[in-house]
Order: sequence, then structure tokens, then C-alpha cells
Amino acid sequence: MKKLSLYFHFPFCVKRCRYCDFVSYPRRDRHTHLKYKKAVFQEIALKVEEEGLRGSELSTVYLGGGTPSLLFSEDVEEILNYLRHFFAFSSSIEITMEVNPETVNGDKIRAFREAGINRFSVGVQSFNPHFLCFLGRSSSLEQIENVLSCMGKINCSSWSLDLLYSLPFQSFLEWQREVESALVYHPPHFSIYDLTFSPRVPLYQFAKRHPGIFPSSDEEALYFEWAMERLDSEGYRHYEISNFAQPGAECRHNLNYWSDGEYLGVGTSAWSYLGGRRQKNTSSLKNYFTRLREGRTPLTFQEELAPHQKLTEDIMLRLRTEEGVKTSYLLAQYKREEVESKLKCLEFLSKEGFIIKEEERFYLSQKGMLVANQIFQEILD
Ligand code: SF4
Repeated sequence: MKKLSLYFHFPFCVKRCRYCDFVSYPRRDRHTHLKYKKAVFQEIALKVEEEGLRGSELSTVYLGGGTPSLLFSEDVEEILNYLRHFFAFSSSIEITMEVNPETVNGDKIRAFREAGINRFSVGVQSFNPHFLCFLGRSSSLEQIENVLSCMGKINCSSWSLDLLYSLPFQSFLEWQREVESALVYHPPHFSIYDLTFSPRVPLYQFAKRHPGIFPSSDEEALYFEWAMERLDSEGYRHYEISNFAQPGAECRHNLNYWSDGEYLGVGTSAWSYLGGRRQKNTSSLKNYFTRLREGRTPLTFQEELAPHQKLTEDIMLRLRTEEGVKTSYLLAQYKREEVESKLKCLEFLSKEGFIIKEEERFYLSQKGMLVANQIFQEILD
């Protein structure tokens, strides 16, 4: 039986954060949310038939966004029941929901849990009210503390907390306080990202005008290295560049992305990867509704990955993880000449200290993790 993951994008938020480059609309009205849910159901039915996915086994489901916690628990129940018409749920299925603290309280979290969510990813970003305000986050510190306190009380062994670093005028001490504030709640999983801007977001112009107020790249490296050591001392495994987990609390949905697993993405801007083909849905909500009303899938892009492209992506994705990539795996999957040219590149990066080579396994060193995007560029070229 075919195994896959499913990603459900819910593109609505209370308001837009100033650094946000995701597809999200500041819309809270229930009518639009229900209309959207119905459109996604149509998309699922269409794609299941077109891709021959009926009866496949779902090992993970991820409700992301946007802010899917704007939905009600009845919606979640309906979504999961709808999926059951088409797919078998694995007995150990992981069902994650991204949660923004301003949209939930203890009762709502419990109701989501009862509806079938067994993993929550809480968008905290900062415990400092000044940073929350700068980022344009909708949540207050009190709302954040409430939802985190609730996580310890519900029967949910797996949940995650997101933090951002490299914020303006953020001192080393302030960053240490952020991590310590998070550790008080014993999250089984942490995601830690540095604040970056695309030219499309409001903070981009601000950052260009005031470059000196952000921590330098040396300071960023110091902050991240300290976090790695601190979390290691608390028993977290640094299992992916930005992700840390207590043993067994790794995000299985993301691990599937990083290990060449197949996934179906539904909703605006969602990506799918099925049978070696990569597909992307329209990012426009209007087009999304129109295409489904006309009975068409909302795809705007699809490509069959050429073998050398697949090899390069596979190496880059696996290098994100602590497991890294093994020569025997590559030789079993791809043509020897193509693998050998990539191995030369990995050997070179290992001589430079960015990658560690252990027998036939290559993985990023601490130094490599700090410049992972440049490393991936080397592998691409
Ligand atoms: S909550 Fe997340 S998706 Fe929504 S605007 Fe903020 S960063 Fe973007």
C-alpha cells in the first residue's frame, strides 16, 4: 500500500505579521473559512482520482498556515473524517496543527485534541513583548503563557515551540532569556529560526534602512551555537538544522520531506511530491476558488524531476538532518557517474570542515550548519 503524508494549508490569520512571507490573508470571517474548507474538500477528491491515491496510507497529516487554529474543533473532526473516505490512517498516524496563541484557550486546545490532533506546533517566536510588537505578532505574552501552560496539562506527548532569533538590538543575554523562558515549559520539540526577510515583506525596507540594529553574523553564530549547547545539555537531539527534539519527539511529517517521501499538499500555495513529480497550487485565493468551482485542480506548476535534479535535491534534503546521506544509499538509487561527481563535492566540503565524513556517511558539521544555504548552493552548482 502506498504511504504518504498530507499537508493542509489554511491561509487565514488574525492579521499579517510584518516579517511574514507565507501565503496568508487577514480574514477571520467564518463564511470565508467554511467556503475554503469546502473548496479544499473538492481539491482532495479531484487529486485523489487524478493521482490514483485512493486507499493510500497516511502516516502524517499537517494542518499548517496561516493560522489553522482559527478553525473550530468541529472543522478538524470533519476534515479528518473526510480524509478517512479516501485514505487509510496508519495506526501511529501523527496529526499536527500549527497553533497561534491568540486564537486558542485551554478548552479549545482540549477540543482539538479530542477531535484527533495529537501534535501541536505553537508559534511563540518571542517571550519579549517588545519583540512581539516589532514583529507585528497578534499574540500577547499572557496568551502565550496560557497556551504553553495548557500543553503540559493535556494528554499530548508531542508538541513543539517556535522561537526566532537575530531580532533588532537583541543582546546575547536577551536571547538566553528567550530559550530559558521556553525551557520552563519542557516542550518535547523546539524549532529555532533566525529572522530573515524577503523583499516582499514590510520589514524588509526597515531592515535595509537600519542594518546596524540587527545582530551581526558573528553574533548570530554565537546565539545559535549557545542554543545548540544549551538544548543538548537538556537532552534535546539536534536532528535537523533548525529542529531539536527529545528522543522520539521528532516531527515525522517533516522527516518525510527530508527523506524523499511522497506527500500530497492541498490548499492555496501547497506543494505536492508524488511519483517523482513536484506540483504547486496557486497562491491566489481568488484563483483557487475559481478553479475548483470550474471543477479543475488548482495547480499552477508541475515538473518531472530529472534524475540529476532528484539526486541533488535528495542530497540537500538529507544533509539537513543529523542522519546525513550515505554513499551506499546514493549508489543504490542513482547513476554511478552522477553520484561520483556529487561525492567529489561532498569530499571537498568535508576537507573545508563544513561536512563531516564518517565511513560512508556525510553530515553537516556545526560550522556547516551555520552556513547551510551556501553549502547547498555548492552542491547545486
Ligand atoms: S501568524 Fe504566521 S502565517 Fe500568519 S501572518 Fe504571522 S507569520 Fe504569517
